[in-house]
Formats: sequence, C-alpha cells, structure tokens
Amino acid sequence: MSADGDGGADVPGGGETRGDGGAGGRVDGQGTPRARCVLAPNPSLMTLDGTNTWLIAEPGSSSALVVDPGPDDERHLRRVSDMVAAAGQRVGKILLTHGHPDHAEGAASFAAMTGAPVLAADPAQRLGSEGLSPGDTVTAGGCEVWVVATPGHSPDSVCLLLAADEALLTGDTVLGRGTTVIAGDGSLADYLASLERLRALADEAGLRVLLPGHGPLLADPAGTLDYYLAHRRERLAEVAAALAAGDRSLPEIVARVYADVDRALWPFAEWSVRAQLDYLAATEGLPPDVSY
Ligand SMILES: [Zn+2]
Repeated sequence: MSADGDGGADVPGGGETRGDGGAGGRVDGQGTPRARCVLAPNPSLMTLDGTNTWLIAEPGSSSALVVDPGPDDERHLRRVSDMVAAAGQRVGKILLTHGHPDHAEGAASFAAMTGAPVLAADPAQRLGSEGLSPGDTVTAGGCEVWVVATPGHSPDSVCLLLAADEALLTGDTVLGRGTTVIAGDGSLADYLASLERLRALADEAGLRVLLPGHGPLLADPAGTLDYYLAHRRERLAEVAAALAAGDRSLPEIVARVYADVDRALWPFAEWSVRAQLDYLAATEGLPPDVSY
C-alpha cells in the first residue's frame, strides 16, 4: 500500500489523469543509466499506475539487482526475468524496499524462477542469509547500492542509494505522485525523521532523481522532500485545529480536514489521521476524550 488519501490536490493521482499509465505509460522502461523500471500490472487507488520493479545493473556486467519484484504475477515476473536475460545478465540478488504485498508478494516466486536470494530489512521477508541493514552496501556486477533506513511508511522501509547515478530508490517513502500514507504499522514520528534524513542526503549525495515505488521519476529530489515535510507539518496543524474546534473522533476529523477530497479516499485518510493523533499524543498531548 502506498498512496495517501491525503488532502487538497495531493490525492493519489495528484490531479493528473489517472490511468494515463495504461499498460505501460511513461514510467515503464524509464530510469537512469544503471536503473530501469518495469511497471507491474497492478494499478489501483493505492498503487497509482502499478508497482515499479527496478532493474539495477552496471552496463555490460553479467549480474543485476532486482528491487521490488511486485505482486505474485507470473507474466510480470517472467517479463522482468526476460529483460535481465536479454541484457546478457542474471539476477544476482532480489531486494525489497519493504514487505507490503504490492512490493514483496512475488519475491518467493521470483527467487524460485531465478535462484537469487531475497534481501530485506525484515528477517521474515528474507530468503537466504543476507539482510538489509542501514549502511550496508549491496553489489552486483560492480554496481553498488547503499542501504538507508527510512522507517515510517512501514517499520521495515528502506531507501537504496545508487550513488553512481546520483539516484535514490524510495519504495513507498516518497511516491511519484501525491503523498504517502502512513500504514497501520507505520509511525509519523519515524516518517518525519526519515524525510529529514533523506533531505540531508539529497544535498550530501547530490541527488538528481528519485526512483519511487509507484508513479513517475522525480527530477527534483530536494524540492520534493521539502514539499513532503511541509505537507506533513500542514496536516498536523490541521488535525490540531480540528481538535481545538471540538472534533473528538476519527470520522469527525477526517470529514473536516479532508472535506475537499473524494470520499472514496477517506478510509485511507483515517490511517493518516490516526498516525497524526499518535504523534500529537506523544508530543503535545491530546484532549482526554479523543477516541481513535
Ligand atoms: Zn507500502
């Protein structure tokens, strides 16, 4: 899961015509010299055009990394495997940005298809002995990615720095359109800290592009991260204002803060408001009669 039911213009789809990705769209086949997107056929409100599976390889090398195989869809997995083979490569390792099913469900099938191990921050998602810990470098055929822990969207979320291309694979921590939901197992405090970490990394690593888990590439990493941080703070202020106005339940707060958002997205907005209330409870405190 990924896209936020979060308000204003930044609902999933971000004001663009959804479905413009169609069966392939703009992101499929896009990337950087060392990263290429293969779009999975699982579009939805929450996954935008579908899940972006990323192939990472040094041009001309014999080995590739595959990030987020996506849903357990044999045609998609076969297509990914065929593209790696067509480049004269084999899949060296499978990496997961996090364990949500739209990213990870196909990992076991893809591992069986390719013989490659699955590396993930969450031990329960791994196949093989290797994990993904902060600061780890994972290599395939001379191509390196560096693991950045970015909990928040989920506790096990990581981003992967492809320094050679000044690119960052963001999973669901940053999306190509709209903003990200804090999932039921996520944490807004962790998420804000992760966004701050990535904002610093954008300058330190001279990032030129974000490669998200859903939606198109983002060519302004620093600006995107500034927007995400500002958006989160704005939403927190709106939730605090709703409490000050007397709202005491999730539906009341959602109805006020997300009044201009399609009601189909309100269930997702409730996740975000719950995460915001958790955050306010731990920081400023909540009125005693709030129920959520
Ligand atoms: Zn997710």
